[in-house]
Amino acid sequence: MTQASARNPRYDILFEPVKIGPKLAKNRFFQVPHASGMTNAAPHVRAAFRAMKAEGGWGVVATGACSVDPSSDDSPFPCATLWDQADIRSHAVMTEAAHAHGALAAVELWHGGAIAMNRTSRMTALSPSGIPWMASHVGFMSSARPRAMDEADIKDLIRWHAEAARRAEQAGFDIAYVYAGMGYLPYQFLMPEYNRRQDQWGGSLRNRVRLTEALIDAVREATGGRLAVALRISLQELRARPSDHAESEAHEVISLLKDAPDLFDVKMDYSVTDCAVSRYSPEGSHEPVIGFVKSLTDKPVVGVGRFTSPETMVSMLRRGVLDLIGGARPSIADPFLPNKISEGREEEIRECIGCNMCISSWHDGVWVRCTQNPTAGEEWRRGWHPEIIRKDREGQVLVVGGGPSGMEAALTLAKRGFEVALADGARDFGGRLRFEASLPGLSAWNRVTEYRMGRLRQMTNVTLYPESPLSAADVLEFGADHVVIATGARWQPVTCAANELPAGEILAPRVYTPEDLAAGVQIEGPVVVFDYDNYYMGSAIAELLAGQGLAVTYVTNAGAAAGWGIMTNEQPLVHQSFAAKGIAYRTLEVVSGFDGEAVRLAQIYSGAETSLAARALVIVGLRRGERGLYEELQARAGEAGAVKSLYLTGDANAPGALVHAIYQGHKTGRELGLAANEIIIRRDAPFAPRDFQMPEAAE
Ligand code: ADP
Ligand code: SF4
Repeated sequence: MTQASARNPRYDILFEPVKIGPKLAKNRFFQVPHASGMTNAAPHVRAAFRAMKAEGGWGVVATGACSVDPSSDDSPFPCATLWDQADIRSHAVMTEAAHAHGALAAVELWHGGAIAMNRTSRMTALSPSGIPWMASHVGFMSSARPRAMDEADIKDLIRWHAEAARRAEQAGFDIAYVYAGMGYLPYQFLMPEYNRRQDQWGGSLRNRVRLTEALIDAVREATGGRLAVALRISLQELRARPSDHAESEAHEVISLLKDAPDLFDVKMDYSVTDCAVSRYSPEGSHEPVIGFVKSLTDKPVVGVGRFTSPETMVSMLRRGVLDLIGGARPSIADPFLPNKISEGREEEIRECIGCNMCISSWHDGVWVRCTQNPTAGEEWRRGWHPEIIRKDREGQVLVVGGGPSGMEAALTLAKRGFEVALADGARDFGGRLRFEASLPGLSAWNRVTEYRMGRLRQMTNVTLYPESPLSAADVLEFGADHVVIATGARWQPVTCAANELPAGEILAPRVYTPEDLAAGVQIEGPVVVFDYDNYYMGSAIAELLAGQGLAVTYVTNAGAAAGWGIMTNEQPLVHQSFAAKGIAYRTLEVVSGFDGEAVRLAQIYSGAETSLAARALVIVGLRRGERGLYEELQARAGEAGAVKSLYLTGDANAPGALVHAIYQGHKTGRELGLAANEIIIRRDAPFAPRDFQMPEAAE
């Protein structure tokens, strides 16, 4: 860390306290509820993850959605609950930790309705009118359908919220949310397509909003005005609907509810637009939808927009868009964002790159992982702090390879007190990002390099060696105590068969991989991009080539373009982009041949073959780790002057997404020189309901 300097007075406004109903937030930094994958099964992991943000200066820290009743069970997605005494105990670990750092703790009471297909609880899913939510969407897909709620169900729903709010108060929360957004049950009541009711809960907008209003009232009454009550509401669809009484239905809803909650948390309707990848969406992208809310209510308003720039944050406040700066991803990437601004250290902010690996962890059903912040989710299990690393070692380390993993390893090792030399064969550090961040839409990924090189350049115990391709002899001659090999991976020119097994090289002219594009090779059109990696690279290269004016056909063995991109919310946007850029695409096919003039395609299930005229083929499939240097040094282990302590990390070890390379680099940095018994990995456990049943039974 550099010497703290004074806060820029322009940013003072960010540190003003804000009254939220009966509570006072110490500043305007509000970590809004967001998925973390941390359920009540891991209470200490969750508490440490949220508390880190409180330690880093966020005035309000919220937990993720908490089911109010077993009739809202989100499995297989991770789902927190607030159902009983055990759940109260579980959440209290988090609220105590947040309070210890002076933050308010918020809880998002949640009922998913037709989204929550109750795969574990096996209760029938509830909905306003029996209409399913995104029934064909992977993740929500189910063979069950929800039933229409009757009047008793609606009374139950209101009661469940009231009871959960009482439990929230017992757990120590300061703010309780009612959640009428993102397709969840109260939102379904707001939308006429889902709400076909003709009773007091359906029909006119006044009727459709009644449930949300009743839930706010119930939560307030249950907590006697001691807790602040927040409303989280999605306004994208409502804003697009005309209203007879206002500029849009969104305006009408906010006017009807303007005095009901103590806080408005306003957002988009779908994860894809609400939590959009930076590839297709800039910082502050919600403003055109939510910007009007403050003009209709005196209650404080919080909203998000992947804010990492204090200038943008101040502009949001000064222009009357928001009262509180909401952060989900920026708070994951840098829990210490507020403190860094407060201390005049904004150049040290580890800015979110908008890659959405964090959201992919929720879709994967695991704890949150973050590309920029490898300590996310490891605060309790491994005891990793995002800012503080104990100086525990001396000695010299040579890191070969200045890509994401090498930079991260070097930074971590330097913080531990080692003398670090970081060498790269190229003129610029950044490794794969030198090319990848130049691809269409990916410039924010440069932040990975900028953050790390910015820190490394300031450290007196770090020496940088650009333009230094090292052989094994060079490494041995350097004579460092420890050597970390972070030499990356290379894309292979091999295709794959219908069964996804590698199918060998295609011997033809003009067959390329991303390595060739990175080296500046000019491609002739028409070109086929065959993608069986199925993350961002194939579609980004198709966009790059289309941008050069080439006729591009994207081919994939998956069912959609950027198949894995469904996990990061980018797949739908890739399809929109292909349509806008005139990129043709074919799915469920593999390239079975190419002769320099035509590409042969085989359908993966039927084997039926077709042909496409093409002058060039770009294959985006497998990467192989560059392990040559590591293996040579290993082989020379017995020689005099050999490297005593040798590590392989990042893509050279196991090629993967940036998040994996950076995590590996960080882990190598943390663990280098430690004995196995010095590496502590704690295992969390839930509070079991049975532990709380005995006293209740005795009453
Ligand atoms: P990772 O994602 O694991 O960090 P990258 O491929 O991004 O991997 O980065 C690897 C870096 O290692 C590249 O910048 C490359 O120039 C560098 N490199 C590879 N081999 C050597 C070597 N023998 N000497 C110096 N630098 C090397
Ligand atoms: Fe931002 Fe990516 Fe980290 Fe998510 S994983 S917080 S999008 S850097």
